[in-house]
Amino acid sequence: MSKADYYEVLGVSRDASDQELKSAYRKLAMKYHPDRNPGDHAAEEKFKEASEAYQVLSDAEKRAAYDRYGHAGVGAAGQGGGFGGPFAGSVDLGDIFGDLFGEMFNMGGGQQRASRQRRGEDLRYDLTIEFEDAMFGIEREIRIRRRESCEACHGTGSASGKGPSTCPQCQGRGQLRYQQGFFSVARTCSACGGTGSIVTDPCTVCRGETRVTKEIKLNVKVPAGVEEGTRIRYGGEGDAGRAGGPSGDLYVVLSIRPHDFFERSGYDLHCVIPISFPQAALGAEIEIPAIDGPVTLKIPEGTQSGKELRIRGRGVPHLNDKGRGDLVVQVIVQIPRKLNRAQRDLVAKLAETMSVENKPTSPSLLDKMKDLFS
Ligand SMILES: [Zn+2]
Ligand SMILES: [Zn+2]
Repeated sequence: MSKADYYEVLGVSRDASDQELKSAYRKLAMKYHPDRNPGDHAAEEKFKEASEAYQVLSDAEKRAAYDRYGHAGVGAAGQGGGFGGPFAGSVDLGDIFGDLFGEMFNMGGGQQRASRQRRGEDLRYDLTIEFEDAMFGIEREIRIRRRESCEACHGTGSASGKGPSTCPQCQGRGQLRYQQGFFSVARTCSACGGTGSIVTDPCTVCRGETRVTKEIKLNVKVPAGVEEGTRIRYGGEGDAGRAGGPSGDLYVVLSIRPHDFFERSGYDLHCVIPISFPQAALGAEIEIPAIDGPVTLKIPEGTQSGKELRIRGRGVPHLNDKGRGDLVVQVIVQIPRKLNRAQRDLVAKLAETMSVENKPTSPSLLDKMKDLFS
């Protein structure tokens, strides 16, 4: 059975923003959530389908892989774009649910206790690398400031180490509810900030927050072939969770310095090289600087100005396999602006032997002829 297109599932365009994705998913999830449609299998399927689509499209890496390769790019289980090691991992569904449904589906079970535990915040680190480093990969040590569990109080937030006690205002629920018409409305308890507990003897080091800010060093491994804006995810390297909650993630977002004369287009590198009229007419072999050392470019006899010559395998290494793109060199035939006397005589002699029919051609026909020649 072929799978439905993720963008169609969510009913958004292919260039939808994160916010649009989230709001489209929120609508569908509200409509089809199993809690709201007990026993309705069609709704459950729709809910799963929307969740899977959102899980992939809300992750920049997976979305890029999906855009490029379709369902094959993200694999059956939603495995990401071939990053190994610290890059592995997927969007935490529990996270999305916590985020989206935390408030929405709180209606039924108001009796469960609030928890002080909170997942740590995700962190972003912007890393600028050189053009060559993006091509061949690099390891860089970065320093990040993040919150880590307070050692003085063992992350309890209380000086005695005995930890927090139940909030007297909300009896540990974290919420206060009151009746408004038909509805029971919940408000976050202001006394405990919704955590359901209060530290009566706050730790002097973290002031009861359970975490302290520290600067740490981290080795970032940038794989070969990354693109501008690539996000590398380090699961669990973000802020520590509160009161023993799970850590957030660290995202290293890459930006790549432009090169003096190479430009990237996918996995191909492009540059422009001027050649002389004799080189174009007679053909030549010239040495040009590729990104990884000199390479010989063969200019065939009768090469037209603007012609693109391709040198296989001297482009950008593929991110996920051993292949490499090509180096595409566009040659531009330079017409000299000034000639010395000897050159002028030679060109004049040449002119006597050459004739061009100076007949008008329509511009669109010229485009076709260019295709023919190039
Ligand atoms: Zn409270
Ligand atoms: Zn502390």
